[in-house]
Amino acid sequence: MRLVFMGPPGVGKGTQAERVTTHFKIVHLSTGDLLREEIKNNTRWGREAKTFMNDGQLVPDDLLLEMMNDRLRLDESKKGYLLDGFPRTLPQARGLDSILEDLNQSLDRAVNLTADNDELIRRLILRGQKSGRDDDSPDIIRKRQQVYRDQTAPLIDYYRKQQLLIEINGIGEIPEITDRIIKSLT
Ligand code: AMP
Repeated sequence: MRLVFMGPPGVGKGTQAERVTTHFKIVHLSTGDLLREEIKNNTRWGREAKTFMNDGQLVPDDLLLEMMNDRLRLDESKKGYLLDGFPRTLPQARGLDSILEDLNQSLDRAVNLTADNDELIRRLILRGQKSGRDDDSPDIIRKRQQVYRDQTAPLIDYYRKQQLLIEINGIGEIPEITDRIIKSLT
């Protein structure tokens, strides 16, 4: 199974992605985690990504597409994967389509998790207090939400047109939401 996971910052995308990949025994590819790993290892990609990430902006498309092109060609990705936080822009979505075409693969579904804005801000502020992530401060959170509305929300239509979109209500208990997602995929 090959999935794309989308949703605004704070919707619980990472948590659900982890649970869904465990259920289907597929690889969890979170571009946020991969980029944080690059930063930790002080690689060329990490150094380039860091300023954008700390400022709540998106990292340039070319870097993401290069990084994902490498990942999707790894042997472990053959068993299926869930892309968490990628694509985030239309050029990334088109770039992903061409990588997949080259690999003779296609996506099964694009899952969009939804929640209202007040709930999202509340969750992100809580997470910021717990995680110590540099980009979870209230100002940066608002900026990431704006970036989401401007650049990522158009992907919902992109995948709807391809008849891949599933929309899931992201409000509720964690296991309950996981059930909704799994049921919609089976
Ligand atoms: P996340 O952990 O998914 O919230 O991502 C954290 C940050 O990593 C984002 O605010 C972006 O700066 C960067 N990032 C993650 N995925 C992408 C992507 N697909 N395109 C551009 N930037 C990304």
